[in-house]
Amino acid sequence: MSPPLLSIDRLAVRYGAGANTVTAVQEASLSLAPGTTHALVGESGSGKSTIARAIVGLAPIVAGNVTLDGQPVDPTRAAGAARMRRRVQMVFQNPYASLNPRASVGDAIGEALMLHRPEVADRAAETGALLNRVGLDPSAAGRFPHQFSGGQRQRIAIARALATGAPCLILDEVTSALDVSVQATILNLLRGLQRELGLSYLFISHDLAVVRYMSDAVSVLYLGRIVESGPREAIFTAPRHPYTQGLLAAVPSIRPEAATAAGHIRGEIGDPRNPPPGCRFHPRCPRAAAEALLMARCRTTVPVFTGTDRRVACHAEAEA
Ligand code: ADP
Ligand code: MG
Repeated sequence: MSPPLLSIDRLAVRYGAGANTVTAVQEASLSLAPGTTHALVGESGSGKSTIARAIVGLAPIVAGNVTLDGQPVDPTRAAGAARMRRRVQMVFQNPYASLNPRASVGDAIGEALMLHRPEVADRAAETGALLNRVGLDPSAAGRFPHQFSGGQRQRIAIARALATGAPCLILDEVTSALDVSVQATILNLLRGLQRELGLSYLFISHDLAVVRYMSDAVSVLYLGRIVESGPREAIFTAPRHPYTQGLLAAVPSIRPEAATAAGHIRGEIGDPRNPPPGCRFHPRCPRAAAEALLMARCRTTVPVFTGTDRRVACHAEAEA
């Protein structure tokens, strides 16, 4: 097996200072094998975007390591961030975050080519080829982002990312703002590009059906901690963390057999500024609620994220 293109190891990210400190991500570890998709799933506020931003140097890493192509890299420093940009590009939910509204599509793509692949002599031809690749007419180069639909704008953002030649894309809720029918066309485009170009994706979504369609591996995030990770089929057919079980039970179309068995997760996701002690999921956990002895441990002790290929951070599972 080839080494991961990208990995993080016990990463922590903290925003703010003093009383306003938010440790948005803690002890997060995951790796992305070349040519595959690793999905990061979790409720809004669980820290998915924070992990993405930290990897590319846009969020303050306070602990842990990032590895790129088998070599350590520090994205918080200019040299590390530059190395990262050559290999990893981000595409956001809102394409205006990755596209300058005042630059024509051709200029946006041309600029990426100039910066990252100066060896490309005929930038106009390459821009046309990239637009073709993402299913747009090359004439789109002469127009501006606002002249396109949401789905077309995501195609443009993807073309701009491809123009850099980076083999890895971080896709942060890229279809979440789109109509379902448009969503499917963008997901299929991404799958096709992965097949043709061997791209690697860190694919961020709160939508489990989309994650199941897109991923090879999955990590489940709860209040800044990864609670479970493993191969896609294992996560979807045999979830082990009560949070993963609850998430899947809430989507009957994915696991009809689990819809009644596990029941839904009660309550709201906690406040990351003041997370529950011990296991952060314990106030909502049906398993801990059913066993007083277990709950005593869940309330006080952070569960270790154990295992290799298949990992879970749960006291009940550690015992089993
Ligand atoms: P997700 O992408 O899973 O919805 P985020 O990574 O955006 O989650 O946010 C994780 C937590 O960090 C949230 O509590 C959010 O309010 C907080 N957060 C995100 N960005 C900042 C920031 N720039 N300053 C302070 N807190 C932030
Ligand atoms: Mg987000």
